[in-house]
Formats: sequence, structure tokens, C-alpha cells
Amino acid sequence: MTAVVVLGSINMDLTTYVARAPRRGETVTGHELRTLPGGKGANQAVAAARAGASEVAMIGAVGTDAYGPALLAELAHNGVDTDLMRTVEGPSGTAHIVVDAQGSNAIVVIPGANGTLTHLPPGDEALIATADTLLLQLEIPMSGVLAAAKAAHRHTVRTVLTPSPARELPAELLAVTDLLVLNEREATALTGQENHRTALAALLEKVPEAVLTLGAEGCLYASREHEPLHVPAPKVETVDTTGAGDTFVGALAVALGEGRTMPQALSWAVCAAALAVTKPGAIAAMPFRSEIEDGDL
Ligand code: ADP
Repeated sequence: MTAVVVLGSINMDLTTYVARAPRRGETVTGHELRTLPGGKGANQAVAAARAGASEVAMIGAVGTDAYGPALLAELAHNGVDTDLMRTVEGPSGTAHIVVDAQGSNAIVVIPGANGTLTHLPPGDEALIATADTLLLQLEIPMSGVLAAAKAAHRHTVRTVLTPSPARELPAELLAVTDLLVLNEREATALTGQENHRTALAALLEKVPEAVLTLGAEGCLYASREHEPLHVPAPKVETVDTTGAGDTFVGALAVALGEGRTMPQALSWAVCAAALAVTKPGAIAAMPFRSEIEDGDL
């Protein structure tokens, strides 16, 4: 049993499928458009709910456009508590995604309502206090992320930060972060290091534990106490990697909350994420607990 609170973004993902992504100044003709809920906050909330968290609540904001009610309905439909979601005047967040024939993606995010999450109302802190784990990403204002991380720290709630999109992290945020989960691009952006182990060593000067996700290679975990541990990903047919990292984080939070050891939790997370890349979309591709457990991977 594990309770997860997510503070973060929710977007409508407008995904175009193309043979290859356009180069600068170039126009290409795609063959499909899908309009599906996403955003790193919503993705991680749904991933945790589907992975079997007993309770998942999301703190976030949608706009007064047509996407707002659809986004809230998607969370509720997936078993995510939306009591602390706000509806604010203006557009909802949107993400504009290009997926090529190899399943690689390139993304532009327009924050919209997500940009209003600049602080943490008292009711939100009360909710965070009840959680096992708080999941944070960087698609909302840094002041909101920081307020939530500090609140979690006050109540000894585990804080897991995905520093995406990568930007400089304030020392006061790192000081209250328990676990960083980041991909290779983010690790290089934050540390200036290409080498995985060197990048992890630099991150461990700031946070006690970090997981570097390595796409089809799985992940590399390191802590101040232990040597780096590589957990390989199951081999799968890649259709669309959108949301793979978020699926990984949601599943990891659930497994850790259930008291699994870090190696066990990482194995569970790479299985969940591998299942997610075999289907198109972000939320649409996220596996349910039974699929992760039965996964013949
Ligand atoms: P992000 O989605 O943030 O770019 P990654 O590409 O590193 O991050 O993917 C996150 C996790 O998803 C990886 O650690 C891995 O477990 C899983 N994953 C991603 N791509 C694949 C793949 N092609 N095959 C199997 N697992 C994958």
C-alpha cells in the first residue's frame, strides 16, 4: 500500500507521426495526429495509479478551454484524486510532439495553466503530509516545486525529482530532494558530464540517491553508500518512447512505497517502462499493475 502525491503539469499532447522529423526550416507531411492527455505531472500520477498505488492525488491546474474538463476527466478515469486540481482562466498546457518512424520524439511544451502553480496553498501541504512519496518535475514554476519539496521535507515524505525540462537546480531544492531520476540529456545538462558514472558522482554531491535512465539500456542507480548498479531493460519492440521516463518514475514510487529494496524497485520500473514503449502515446501506453506483474519480458 502506498500513497503518492504528484505536483506538476498536465497538458493536452498533440502528437504528430512522421517518417522523419523536420529539419530547421523544413516542412514534412505527417500521417497521423493524436490528441491525448499528458504532461509530466499527469503522466507520473497515472503511472503510479496504474502500477497499483493505493492512493494517488495530483496537485495542478487546467485552463478554461475545452481541454480543461477533458484533462480532469482523464485523471479521474485513471483513479487519480483531483480534489486539489484548480481550473484557472486561460488555456490549458499543451505539448506539441513529433514522433518519427524509429519511435524517437521531439517536444515543445506551452505551459498555459501550469504556469500558475507558483506556490503551495496550506491545504496542499496537508495532503502532502499524508503521502509516502511526493513526485516533482520541472514543467511548473520553480517556486511551486520548491514550496512542495520543502513541505514534503518537513513531514519526512520521500521526494523524488525528475529535473525535466533540465534547468539549473537551486541548492535549496537539492537540499530537500531524496532521489533524482533523470535521463542522459538531463544528466549532461546538469553536470556537464557525458560519462554516466562521472555524472552520477557529481549528482551525489548534491542528493543522496540518483537514477540515470538509459533508454533501451535500462538504468544506472547510485547512492552515497553503494557502488553504481546497472539494471538492464527488457528487450522490446519500440513503438513510441513518449512517457517512458514518467512510467518508470511512477512505478518506482509505488515499488519503493511497498517496501521493496531499491534493486527490486528498479527491476519493476524497467519492466513497466519497457511495456510503455511498445504502444503509442504517453498515458495511453502506461501499463496496469497486472500487466507489469504478468509481463513476459
Ligand atoms: P526519457 O523517457 O525521460 O527520455 P529514457 O529514454 O531513459 O528516459 O527512458 C526511461 C526508461 O524507459 C529507461 O530507463 C528504460 O527502463 C525504459 N525504456 C526507454 N526506452 C526503452 C526501450 N527502447 N526499450 C526498453 N525500455 C526502454
